[in-house]
Amino acid sequence: MAHVKTDIEIAREASWKPIQEIGAGLGIPQEHLLPYGHDKAKVSSAFIASLADRPDGKLVLVTAINPTPAGEGKTTTTIGLGDALNRIGKKAIICVREPSLGPSFGMKGGAAGGGYAQVIPMEDINLHFTGDFHAITSAHNLLAAMIDNHVYWGNSLGIDTRRITWRRVMDMNDRALRDIVVGLGTGNGFPRETGFDITVASEIMAILCLARDLKDLEERLGNIIIGYRYDKTPVYARDLKADGAMAVLLRQAMQPNLVQTIENNPAFVHGGPFANIAHGCNSVIATTTALKLADYVVTEAGFGADLGAEKFFDIKCRKAGLKPAAAVIVATVRALKMNGGVRKEDLGTENVEAVMAGCPNLGRHIENVRQFGVPLVVAINHFHSDTEAEIRAVKDYVARMGCEAILCNHWAEGSAGAVELAQKVVELAEHGASNFAPLYVDEMPLLEKMETIVKRIYRGAGVVASDTIQAQLRRWEEEGYGHLPVCMAKTPYSFSADPSVLGAPTGHVVPIREVRLSAGAGFVVAICGDIMTMPGLPRVPAAERIFLSPEGYVEGLS
Ligand code: ADP
Ligand code: MG
Repeated sequence: MAHVKTDIEIAREASWKPIQEIGAGLGIPQEHLLPYGHDKAKVSSAFIASLADRPDGKLVLVTAINPTPAGEGKTTTTIGLGDALNRIGKKAIICVREPSLGPSFGMKGGAAGGGYAQVIPMEDINLHFTGDFHAITSAHNLLAAMIDNHVYWGNSLGIDTRRITWRRVMDMNDRALRDIVVGLGTGNGFPRETGFDITVASEIMAILCLARDLKDLEERLGNIIIGYRYDKTPVYARDLKADGAMAVLLRQAMQPNLVQTIENNPAFVHGGPFANIAHGCNSVIATTTALKLADYVVTEAGFGADLGAEKFFDIKCRKAGLKPAAAVIVATVRALKMNGGVRKEDLGTENVEAVMAGCPNLGRHIENVRQFGVPLVVAINHFHSDTEAEIRAVKDYVARMGCEAILCNHWAEGSAGAVELAQKVVELAEHGASNFAPLYVDEMPLLEKMETIVKRIYRGAGVVASDTIQAQLRRWEEEGYGHLPVCMAKTPYSFSADPSVLGAPTGHVVPIREVRLSAGAGFVVAICGDIMTMPGLPRVPAAERIFLSPEGYVEGLS
């Protein structure tokens, strides 16, 4: 078999255009592009503000079935679809998340798409890019430093140092920093337990991704709850007078980053909140800017549709007033087989029965997306090992659901492999059938919101929450936080809270183990199982295979 080129080889061979040319294609004047090198640029806030009165293009969400641990190709499909829309003559912009640097050195490799559907410069996007994560890390840790400093100088706010919830962050997988003690030694403040999370888990990341503009950003930063006093009343970042300086550090990070695909189509790569403790979508400012500049905006949401699409609709779209015109559910034969009970080692063997046994998982996601009133199409992301019979089984199943599944080959062929998908998306969007509405109204009590998601999306029997958790939720409602949406933190592998229960389970009970208020981001996090906010590295980290070639190329990133 011929050598299959790696993502990084394909990316390196792409003939890229100067970023000014990509910007010009969108009508962004040179003086409003702030270049970072030759192939990346931020878009000025003045230019974004000038777009306010323009009509919006159509928003398309790319989501997926419950994934295998390898990922199902949502990012790859988002990029492939964006390229294909451009290919059929639509002006389309892709909006995806910025990858976190930490996991690139763990297991994941890059996260800028794959095969012939990628955004470039792949190495930069996966590594330091335009410094947004550095800015978020700095703003986060400035607040942390100001908290300990405040306590050191007398603690006039009366912060209960046992109840400081604000931790520190860095963009690295480092389990040794999960639980630490700070303030040891004489003259270094007061010892207390705390720890580090990975930068993408920072509330500031979620805030940056939901803020409409710099003013809204600063307001939300001030609303962050850093901990509690002895009388249990919250202490805000505003009380420490940290919000202004944090906004200063984030000033440039708020501007969307423009790059291009390997087919030279525009893409905004901006923001990357964790899809568990946060909502897992690219920034609102990038999406709303793209909608002003293009006929079509294709964006993705993290994890399967039970988590990613639900949060995209109920948090991002609700908060930003977005109205998606169509959705694409990415399915792969391998993930369907896994949902049908096949082990990872056996995925290479044809198994039509297993595909059919896994299809109810896809069916559930189809029904769920329909509940939001958004018309959809299924994209079968074609893998080399898929057989005709397996693909036919998926297509037939989806047809029985009253929907269409289209085989897509963008990973191997670029835009040419996703033309049919693009045509279908245009048909759905132009037909104007979208009747989008979030799942629940703002006024619904917080616990009932969680129940609603569990019953209607996860098809469980309901939630269980201790008296303490219920009392906590009631207290937040009394304090004026009852109108917030909830952000479910659940395993992405199952509709239940148990990652080993694949397929389409019903009747399960979802335990709410803990609730957290992200008052700055504007949601209440419901933790249903173990969630990871600081990943570790595997036994053999990808870092061991990453190096600089004698020619100066980054090798081994993916
Ligand atoms: P997700 O966004 O769902 O996590 P990605 O789009 O990042 O998934 O893809 C995950 C990995 O799978 C990437 O390394 C990508 O190159 C690879 N991949 C995606 N689609 C295909 C395909 N059709 N064939 C082979 N590899 C693929
Ligand atoms: Mg992805």
